[in-house]
Amino acid sequence: MHVMLLSFCALVWLVPRPGFTAPTFIRDEESTPSPEPQVDLELATDYLQQYYNLQRDPLGCMKRSGLSFISKVKDMQNFFGLNATGVLDFDTLELMKSPRCGVPDVEEYSHIQGTRWEKNVITYSIGRYTRDLPRSSVDSLIESAFGVWARASGLTFIRSNTRNADIMVEFVTYAHGDLYPFDGPGGTLAHAFGPGLGAGGDTHFDDNERWTAGETGFNLLVVAAHEFGHALGLKHSRNPESLMYPTYKTSHPANLLSREDVANINALYSPLTDHSNHVLRGIQQNPWQSRPLSPRLIQNKCAPDMTFDAVSTLGDATVFFRDRYLWIKHNLQSDIKQGPITNFMPKIETSIDAAFWVPRRSTAYLIHESMFWTVKGSLVKGKPRALTHFGFPVWIQDVDAAVHIVKTGRTLFFMHDIYWSYNENRKVMDFGYPKYISEGFPGVNTTIQAAFYKEGFIYFFLGPQVYKFDYTRKHIVGVEAANSWLGC
Ligand code: ZN
Ligand code: CA
Ligand code: ZN
Repeated sequence: MHVMLLSFCALVWLVPRPGFTAPTFIRDEESTPSPEPQVDLELATDYLQQYYNLQRDPLGCMKRSGLSFISKVKDMQNFFGLNATGVLDFDTLELMKSPRCGVPDVEEYSHIQGTRWEKNVITYSIGRYTRDLPRSSVDSLIESAFGVWARASGLTFIRSNTRNADIMVEFVTYAHGDLYPFDGPGGTLAHAFGPGLGAGGDTHFDDNERWTAGETGFNLLVVAAHEFGHALGLKHSRNPESLMYPTYKTSHPANLLSREDVANINALYSPLTDHSNHVLRGIQQNPWQSRPLSPRLIQNKCAPDMTFDAVSTLGDATVFFRDRYLWIKHNLQSDIKQGPITNFMPKIETSIDAAFWVPRRSTAYLIHESMFWTVKGSLVKGKPRALTHFGFPVWIQDVDAAVHIVKTGRTLFFMHDIYWSYNENRKVMDFGYPKYISEGFPGVNTTIQAAFYKEGFIYFFLGPQVYKFDYTRKHIVGVEAANSWLGC
């Protein structure tokens, strides 16, 4: 595996540093000469990674050998109705430089699940405001943006002052507690999660943009109306006339919605409206009552017997997994994001047994039974791979917990009463393993559900408690409730 990755790297252009001239883009398998003298490969790579699921391998090299870069350029050109040449020509690059929505265009990898709210009265709340506009202007522009969809559908939007509203609206910058950090001025303007519990419906605006009520800067009404389309379950449109087109347009028709937008919102919600009206007349059901999409996913993080399946660092945050649900606690912010795993990582439709973070690769590894995913930045990369990649014997079909020890460069995998040590530098299992957990970790005598490393200590999650283990002195130095980490 390692050798294969290196061979990918050998085919790759180094990404130009600021101040250097970008190399001419030459396709490595097809030999058509490229007409453009200079291109911003870094820009194109970032763009395709964010919106078209272009992947980097774990060493941070662009995977160009499989023509995946070119095919992603073609996907993007197809979406925007350009000639699908796979070449980074002027028009393609101009589009890549256009300010736009942060939700990917490729449906399979977008945050949007193609779901809808199972109710027709939807609440929203405005959390953090921008300073670009008076609060009263923000309030009325957000209300107008919901009004755009209310007029075209049977939906009603109610403002609430709680943090439990269906759609939380916030102005934030850079990393802000979900897996999709903003990028400073320009580029991504805003993003929204599709309908669902927890983070579902939440809509974030990049407060490094200049938000306005007019034609200068970015018009908040227009961008908000677009994002609320996602919060209601709509995907991006290829039709430049549609509000759901991904890039920002400087001029706007009086009627923001195209016929396509109206048809799409009604396709998503009209059967529900007909059905619930019928039910209302029949059995007097309370129209305010929401029907959660997946009630079994609801978890009370503060229940006294709360346990976690896996805990891992992920970038600037700590992620807690339990069944198909997760909580994200950002290191610098007090609020905790939560929701079904698929709201954050659309590809992962299972629970997570074990997870670990390798900081020097900025990569998290999420294990489910005998498979694992790699998560880099905001993206789950490619398909899951087999646990045998780490050198386990084939009879190992799952692990209970995993933790990476930065100081030694080792990843420890725990299973029942034994553990393995994997050398991340040499990419081999260490000799002499498995060993008994009770030998390596005196005092740890029951099955380990999750493990987490921080500043010389391993935190072992055993049932509803977390034990702090001094890895140098080899003994337990503290114990607390597992969910105390989530503010309980
Ligand atoms: Zn969008
Ligand atoms: Ca931005
Ligand atoms: Zn966000």
